[in-house]
Amino acid sequence: MQKLKLLLEKKKFRYLSYFLLTAVMISILWLVGQFLTINKLFEDLELKTLDFRYRMAGTVIKPNPDILIISIDDNSLEILENQYGRYPWSRDIYAKVINYLESGKADSIIFDLMFIGNQKGFEDKDKELAVTMGKYNNVYTSMNFDNRKIFNSPDLPETLKVNVENHSYTIDFNDFNFSSCRLILQDILQSTPNIGMINLSRDEDGITRRGSLLVKYKNDFYPYLGFKVAYDYLKKHENLNLDKFEINKNNQLLLGKRKIQLDKDGRMIINWYGDESTLPQVPFWQVIKSINAVNQGKKPDLSPDYFKDKIIFIGATAIALYDIKSIPLSGIFPGTEILATVFNNIVDNNPIKRVYPWINLLICTFLSIITGTIVLKLRSTAISSFIIVSVLTVYILFSSLLLKKFFIWVDFVNPILIITLTFTIMYIIKYLMKSKDFEYTYKLATTDGLTGLYNHRFFQEHLANSIERTRRYNSHISLLLIDIDFFKKFNDTYGHQAGDAVLRQVADTLKKAVRSSDLVARYGGEEMTVVLDNTDIEEAVIIANKICTTVAEKSFKLSETVERNVTISIGVATFPQHGEIPSKLIEFADKGLYRAKENGRNQVGAIE
Ligand code: GH3
Ligand code: MG
Ligand code: MG
Repeated sequence: MQKLKLLLEKKKFRYLSYFLLTAVMISILWLVGQFLTINKLFEDLELKTLDFRYRMAGTVIKPNPDILIISIDDNSLEILENQYGRYPWSRDIYAKVINYLESGKADSIIFDLMFIGNQKGFEDKDKELAVTMGKYNNVYTSMNFDNRKIFNSPDLPETLKVNVENHSYTIDFNDFNFSSCRLILQDILQSTPNIGMINLSRDEDGITRRGSLLVKYKNDFYPYLGFKVAYDYLKKHENLNLDKFEINKNNQLLLGKRKIQLDKDGRMIINWYGDESTLPQVPFWQVIKSINAVNQGKKPDLSPDYFKDKIIFIGATAIALYDIKSIPLSGIFPGTEILATVFNNIVDNNPIKRVYPWINLLICTFLSIITGTIVLKLRSTAISSFIIVSVLTVYILFSSLLLKKFFIWVDFVNPILIITLTFTIMYIIKYLMKSKDFEYTYKLATTDGLTGLYNHRFFQEHLANSIERTRRYNSHISLLLIDIDFFKKFNDTYGHQAGDAVLRQVADTLKKAVRSSDLVARYGGEEMTVVLDNTDIEEAVIIANKICTTVAEKSFKLSETVERNVTISIGVATFPQHGEIPSKLIEFADKGLYRAKENGRNQVGAIE
């Protein structure tokens, strides 16, 4: 314990211990934060800064050139009204589109449209679509789960289900476990297994940043449409073949060499290729116009060849159809493009990966240590603040770069918070330590090391100040000059160590004998002095005599077993009658001391 105390006295170790204390405090704060609602606040902020970082650097990745979007836009609604009536059109139109694109050898055709319920009077057209869809194994359509309270939630064909083996400790799919489902046409359900879910996932601020790849319904897993198409694409082009989807302990969904990082709800963080204009688009009406042209033996705008090897997403982008979402990059973004983007992310293996919490903690600790060191090492507040701001800036750039170049999301809000916190705490500690250091230096400069009494210099200053004050108040102060009798002989007899011990004990005795407002100092050698505040000569002599007797009656310990007596002689002087300046007063007291020695010692010198 004593050793530890000594160690802590050393400046370096004191810094280190405070520093460790701060680090521990911050870690605890961080851990506690993980479990409290405050973490939600930080998480919301984190998402906002993620958007900011994303926008700041602009998009650098290019979309897959084989992706094409056929958009049912506002023009299509207007242009096709003559031929097919008001939207929704009779569904043979989609059968025609499928046949046309297939004739051009499209890679896949994905309908981001839900064919729910028969259209009255057009049941045969519905059938035509179902049959056409069933004819090709590369045509996909969509369905949606929800949580409506309905009488009985329908069961779905086995062929739509997928096996999932979840080894993660944190992924539970609770937010994507649905109780009901909006069935699409039975004819379609029975004709094709190529049906994926299009449940979109928005964050609480309404912005879509993630996509769920697997959705739970009545305890079975169903794939998200974009994921299903991507998996089939990899099956076809990379010979991937899985009988189940495995999620490992690190929350990664394994797709051959691809490892897709999932969040705790089993969602992937979407990486964006830019605003809506980035993915190539053709309007739906132009495709229909081309089909009509071919039928009439004319040259089409978009020949079947145009669609060769394309992965074609067909969806509504018309404002009137409301399939428009917010994403981090732009204010509005069509749902179909989100679908295509998720597909693209998986196939090109560039979804965003959020680093594990322990890496974020490591970053926080590292930044905290840097900040703490800067604050402690640098004297100037301006320079250290400047460096901290630079560290912050570098971190902002660094984390943006990681996001843009390597698709890695490191925490932003927590580290910034930690830097600020460390900066503040370390500054307070530094300030407190500085004032402590000052106290220590002050003590060193004013006290005597052996006796712990004030030193000669301090005594001189104090006496001068006291005289000035006393002069103003028209009062008195007295000075005692004390010398130990035959101390040379004492040293010679018992040794200097014993002499020192006696000096210390005489000093303690003196301190105890006077009021706290009086000052006891070591004048030099074995001579000590007392400045008695507000004391006239009569009182001073009484006090001096009392001190003389006390010392004479006391036994002083030289060692554990040996005790000896010493005596002292005292000279007295009082301001103002014996002198008006320090040197005169001291001279007067010295004369008194001399008389006390002359008269046989162990006494107070007579005043003359
Ligand atoms: P006197 O009664 O006339 O004062 O006799 P004295 O021996 O005390 O006389 P003097 O003032 O000549 O001697 C002072 C001695 O005090 C000399 C020195 O050995 C001793 N002394 C001075 N400072 C210290 C100290 O810090 N420690 C010890 N142990 N002795 C000291
Ligand atoms: Mg002396
Ligand atoms: Mg002496």
